[in-house]
Amino acid sequence: HAERLDGLGTTIFAEMSALAVATGSVNLGQGFPDRDGPDSLLADAIAAIRAGANQYPPARGVPALRQAIADHQKRFYDLTYDPDTEVLVTTGATEAIAAALLAFVEPGDEVIALEPYYDSYAAGIAFAGGRRVPVTLRAPSYRLDLDELRAAVTPRTKVLLINSPHNPTGTVLTDDELRGICAVAIEHDLVVITDEVYEHLVYDGLEHRPLASYDGMAERTVSISSAGKTFAVTGWKIGWVTGSAEVVTAVTTAKQFLTFTSGAPFQPAVANALALGNDYFDALRADLQSRRDLLSNGLADLGFEVHRPAGTYFVTTDIRPLGHTDGIAFCRMLPERAGVVAIPHQVFYDHPDPGRPLVRWAFCKQPEVLEEALARLTKLF
Ligand code: PMP
Ligand code: GLN
Repeated sequence: HAERLDGLGTTIFAEMSALAVATGSVNLGQGFPDRDGPDSLLADAIAAIRAGANQYPPARGVPALRQAIADHQKRFYDLTYDPDTEVLVTTGATEAIAAALLAFVEPGDEVIALEPYYDSYAAGIAFAGGRRVPVTLRAPSYRLDLDELRAAVTPRTKVLLINSPHNPTGTVLTDDELRGICAVAIEHDLVVITDEVYEHLVYDGLEHRPLASYDGMAERTVSISSAGKTFAVTGWKIGWVTGSAEVVTAVTTAKQFLTFTSGAPFQPAVANALALGNDYFDALRADLQSRRDLLSNGLADLGFEVHRPAGTYFVTTDIRPLGHTDGIAFCRMLPERAGVVAIPHQVFYDHPDPGRPLVRWAFCKQPEVLEEALARLTKLF
């Protein structure tokens, strides 16, 4: 195979979900909700199939969805986009990330990403021929060190690839951190690709603030989100990009030859869901916050050092208080020993050390499933 596949192997999510099925484990590894929602969304997709939305939708997405995405950006962030030129529907955020990297990274260009990073970033950068340059968010607070970010910039730096709320740490970047990122991007004239798929999963009264909303960022920012997390339909793979007409055209040029288009019946359904009232978004947040607390408190009671997240649906623990040191070994042992699956942080790092003792657990599951996982984990002792 080609060199660009070196080191990519099989994603940890596929490996661990297969292990969960094979061992009958409670799967707190791969992040997907165990309830599909909301009902109106599911009904709208079924109705769209019946109504004949089964052929290729337009390359940039159906007009109703592009309009709904623009309306959503206006409603939540006061950002204005022209649905015809500044919005692109993609096959999940994953395709948007890959297409954005293909659109802006020349072979040999450097892409700075926050480490630990979501695993498709490494692949997307490799496919574009770029070189990834990690800036580490360190446990237990996972704050961004802006001096380290500045020091990572070289004349070859082309893109900052940012993710907040951040998978796997659950960190939500602060206003100061976001301002610092913007200052670096503007000073060095960088493109910022910002993955905001967890934009609605932010807890404790914190608010998500998109990078595109900061001064000087509109023309250099590729904003990415998707329906998977916000509407608990991760298998639908409806994502989107917003940005200037120039940025969106560049990403569209790459995207049209990856999948051209996808998800015809899901697109109108997601358009309606984006217009759901605030009660939907508030309930989603409140519900997930209570599950975060259930799992975090339970893991702390078991003796883990818990790094309670401000966003996403993942909580990270340090396993050293339990006498373990290696997250990969721990996660390989866990299904057999306890019947639970989790994800080792280490697979999301270039630096080998900072992620070694860290393990990520998904809490987007029914409370009784989380209780069952916690009960099983007592077998470790
Ligand atoms: N980015 C991050 C940070 C994620 O956690 C995920 C989750 N799967 C994705 C992108 C991919 O999103 P999608 O399923 O919409 O492709
Ligand atoms: N984003 C989800 C996670 O981090 C799922 C990723 C995947 O299956 N590719 O668990």
